Amino acid sequence: MKCPYCGQLEHKVLDSRPARDGEAVRRRRECEGCNRRFTTFEAPEKPRLFVVKRSGGREEFDQEKVLNGMVTACRKRPVALDDLREAALRVERDLFDTCEDEAPSCEVGDRVMRELYRLDPVAFVRFASVYREFEDPEEFAETVRRMRDSGPAGIVPLALIQAR
Ligand SMILES: [Zn+2]
Repeated sequence: MKCPYCGQLEHKVLDSRPARDGEAVRRRRECEGCNRRFTTFEAPEKPRLFVVKRSGGREEFDQEKVLNGMVTACRKRPVALDDLREAALRVERDLFDTCEDEAPSCEVGDRVMRELYRLDPVAFVRFASVYREFEDPEEFAETVRRMRDSGPAGIVPLALIQAR
């Protein structure tokens, strides 16, 4: 960062202290070029992620919306709301970890499908058929194969585990 007086890049920190109720750090610096002092503030950028829709439009990622979609898919299915909340949180974390600034909507949908595939096969089928708008059964079978083969190793729908 340049000194506001002379543009020199080298300066030393004289003092650091929390600012804005701990949300930022205020640093008093001294320029090594002109020896004048100035103050900097450092604060984390609010994480934001935009979802780019197939139409090209974009909207800010909304975890609540993801959760609502999963709740709808799980209507009358034996899936606990807490499990869905955790799943929505995993979707959010994974998106923020792997995408910078924006994510195509398919990245969101695929993650939701993967979570539902693990939680409840019926909910998965409901969600996938609306979201993917399958035109033929083979396309659907292919998606199921992809769910089975992708994601964390050994993902098997809970219902299948329980049936064993
Ligand atoms: Zn300076």
